[in-house]
Amino acid sequence: MTDPHGGTALPQERRLVTAVPGPKSQELMARKQATVADGVGTVMPVFAKRAGGGVLEDVDGNSFIDFGSGIAVTSVGNSATEVVRRATAQLEAFTHTCVMVTPYEPYVEVCEQLAELTPGDHAKKSALFNSGAEAVENAVKIARVYTKRHAVVVFEHGYHGRTNLTMALTSKNMPYKHGFGPFAPEVYRVPVAYPFRWLTGPENCAEEAAAQAISQIEKQVGAENVAAVIIEPLLGEGGFIEPAKGFLPRIERFAKDNGIVFVADEIQSGFCRTGHWFACEDEGVVPDLITTAKGIAGGLPLAAVTGRAEIMDAAHAGGLGGTYGGNPVACAAALGSIHTMREMDLASRARRIEDVMKPRLQKLAEQHGVIGEVRGRGAMLAIELVQPGTKDPNPEATAALAKACHQEGLLVLTTGTYGNVMRFLPPLVIGEDLLNEGLDVLEGALASL
Ligand SMILES: *Cc1c(COP(=O)(O)O)cnc(C)c1O
Repeated sequence: MTDPHGGTALPQERRLVTAVPGPKSQELMARKQATVADGVGTVMPVFAKRAGGGVLEDVDGNSFIDFGSGIAVTSVGNSATEVVRRATAQLEAFTHTCVMVTPYEPYVEVCEQLAELTPGDHAKKSALFNSGAEAVENAVKIARVYTKRHAVVVFEHGYHGRTNLTMALTSKNMPYKHGFGPFAPEVYRVPVAYPFRWLTGPENCAEEAAAQAISQIEKQVGAENVAAVIIEPLLGEGGFIEPAKGFLPRIERFAKDNGIVFVADEIQSGFCRTGHWFACEDEGVVPDLITTAKGIAGGLPLAAVTGRAEIMDAAHAGGLGGTYGGNPVACAAALGSIHTMREMDLASRARRIEDVMKPRLQKLAEQHGVIGEVRGRGAMLAIELVQPGTKDPNPEATAALAKACHQEGLLVLTTGTYGNVMRFLPPLVIGEDLLNEGLDVLEGALASL
């Protein structure tokens, strides 16, 4: 497949034909408000009609440049040719048998691909699920049954999902946890090496944060009680935080020395997003277990836990699974998505996106005191917004900037513990002209703040 935009027929252009939101979106939004629970929020109040390559078209005919990919999901583009072709063929053959009743080849093939693509050359096995949160929950189940221990260690600013156990693992109260407790026990949170906000400055951040984290585990939990340490190699919802270099390998070593299962949650950072198949490859970290979802299947719901065969096999037969986990249509879509990533070398496309975007973002940071830091890797980039001249978070400017971008036809997402990070997650198949035009829109919106 050589089509540069993943096979979409949609015109690759930004086009505004109504105000944002347009009349049809407003009408649909009224229906949504009447019938969809308020808890299901909306980032940009337009209704999608079609999407592909680097654009999303709404019901009013506006075409937005997509810097969100449905939260790092449609890395191969929406309705990418190979995803559609394989999922369609699977839909016509059969839609569901339940893998625990009658298995099927696409499930096994996805697990074979995961064994090949994830870091490390040890024997690996996988189990497939429907959502990222479900994968993280299962990683905890597997680590507990393998180690016969209970405690789970997670990190400040971490995000792992919205189910009861994963809410407990998630750091941020509002909106993810507020009012939804009580949460699962035996979860302990320790510091992460966040260079921009480390009190003594970024220089010794990795060492000091690792020492604090390890000391807290030893003193408050006891290393011998810890089943798993779970970390995002590049933190997503916490604000696209890159742990200072050296932090991850130090935590990995501590886990190995103490018989703790080291789990990399690569649900957002995986599948070529950061310029490699997985973000932990940047520091040569080889997790015992790795959780994946989002980018894996071009938009269909699929998630996985992949890891050392002896750990994965610790759970008894029938102990893992679910009615829909590893649905055949989602597996076929994943095989199409993985094929596309290999064929188009989307990891290097992600690095190219960084090469185009980062210098321009850095230039904007020099011109606008409101940008405190530019960070991220590959096509997982962000700016952290502050009160100029300080490091005080500026969520108001972040929200205003996002709104201004939306109104000019650029779909952007915000994130971060303090709500002051604007993140950029374009589909890896986006054209370079659109990428630059998106940055032009951002530049104009910043100037208008
Ligand atoms: C999105 C995300 C999850 C949760 O995935 P869902 O599919 O929404 O359940 C877990 N961990 C990380 C790092 C994520 O970004």
